[in-house]
Amino acid sequence: MRRAGGRPTAVRPLRRRPAAPARRPLPQCALPSPGGAVCGACLKHPPAFDRTVAVHAYGFPLDALVRHCKYAGALDLTDWFAASLAEALAAQPRVDLILPMPLHEARLAERGFNQAVEIARRLAPRLGIPWSPQGCRRFRDTPPQAGLDLKARRRNLRDAFRCDLDLTGKHVAVLDDVMTSGASLDELAKTIRAAGAASVTAWVVARTL
Ligand SMILES: [Zn+2]
Repeated sequence: MRRAGGRPTAVRPLRRRPAAPARRPLPQCALPSPGGAVCGACLKHPPAFDRTVAVHAYGFPLDALVRHCKYAGALDLTDWFAASLAEALAAQPRVDLILPMPLHEARLAERGFNQAVEIARRLAPRLGIPWSPQGCRRFRDTPPQAGLDLKARRRNLRDAFRCDLDLTGKHVAVLDDVMTSGASLDELAKTIRAAGAASVTAWVVARTL
């Protein structure tokens, strides 16, 4: 090979590389993984939910829509969120009950609504599945999770939820707008398992990748 100033280097044909293994979303946490191998996070800390159904990647424009819904009270968006979930769930196994991610009453008073409840309210009739807005409650008003590492997030969430339902043998879906680390859904799933659920599936509109 010659340096700059010399004759141009002959273009060599690209060497054929072995094809990279396909990145498919993992069933348990919905993160794309080469060849479907269990991701590091799930290996280190297996989530309490069995599966995740995430409709969209959490990026533009979904992030803007979710924020608009949550902080500007654009509740008609929950209708679209519910419709896109219903479409994604059409080919998925049925569940017995949908439980939206509860919001602490202080947050509820501040915001005036719980977006997860609003999505569940619109999704449940589409699927013909019962749901419960009050079945689980959030007792710890956890500080904003952004900026905390995963360990701190988990610590903040410990025993954050209580479930007053008898879920013995039930297949339950926990519903939220966005899954980031999955720590909240994991803690909620743990509570629901303790109430007897046979399986817990996480349903989210969007997932950070
Ligand atoms: Zn994983």
